[in-house]
Amino acid sequence: MATDPKIIAIANQKGGVGKTTTTINLGAALAERKKRVLLIDLDPQGNASTGLGIDHDQRDATTYDLLSGDVTLAGAIQQTTIDRLSIIPANTDLSSADLELIDNAKRSFLLRDVLRGNPTDPLDFDYILIDCPPSLNILTVNAMVAAHSIIVPLQSEFFALEGLSQLILTVRDVRQTANPDLRIEGIALTMYDSRNNLSLQVEDDARENMGDMVFKTVIPRNVRLSEAPSFAIPVLTYDSASKGSAAYRALANELIEKTNKMRAA
Ligand code: ADP
Ligand code: MG
Repeated sequence: MATDPKIIAIANQKGGVGKTTTTINLGAALAERKKRVLLIDLDPQGNASTGLGIDHDQRDATTYDLLSGDVTLAGAIQQTTIDRLSIIPANTDLSSADLELIDNAKRSFLLRDVLRGNPTDPLDFDYILIDCPPSLNILTVNAMVAAHSIIVPLQSEFFALEGLSQLILTVRDVRQTANPDLRIEGIALTMYDSRNNLSLQVEDDARENMGDMVFKTVIPRNVRLSEAPSFAIPVLTYDSASKGSAAYRALANELIEKTNKMRAA
């Protein structure tokens, strides 16, 4: 029997912390483990789409069209060059302004209704990863309402933990109003440099304050991770032996283990 996909939003309102890098490479690492993965690009910048080789002229059916009801879920999904890895691309149509115009009661539920509105028609995926924009706007709220859990990439730099309390307040708010079961899957330390005291300090702080919520795996700063998008492929394809690839494989393993434990419980 097919199980429902596990839906995870990759969220942090700060830009440049590794959301898109994590979405692409965690997705690719899960696909390498034979999981069927759908990425949803929920950022009008469309970086996840570009990073996986979906050119702008291939974005006829986007996340915006999906949320507006102009295209079906099946009609919006595109296969990437990676086996078992699909994507719904985004472009600048997906500015939150248009969504703000929708009736207040409905506008937070658009993505949820698309992904979870039809339980008799199970989706053919094991994981759905949603790449959120750098803001706690209506798009990110849509992701949190649709998701089972969220992964928060945290850049191992000064001020990393600042802003986390605001994110957690938003999660609490979504729980109270729309999605009581929303969990924090984990906090992923990104751009980690073990030679840098600041990274070590951010890690100590995070583990002390948030304990088990922090993934054991840390994602190192690795130039291969920043080069791969310009070749429009995940780092696992670009340089399979790189430290970045190893880290995202380890993160995928940790996530799969957690998912299996949850399902067994
Ligand atoms: P966000 O989606 O949160 O804005 P990105 O994933 O786009 O962040 O990352 C911001 C920049 O940092 C990008 O240029 C990306 O290639 C680079 N980057 C992300 N993670 C790493 C890493 N672990 N090592 C090196 N560069 C990284
Ligand atoms: Mg991004």
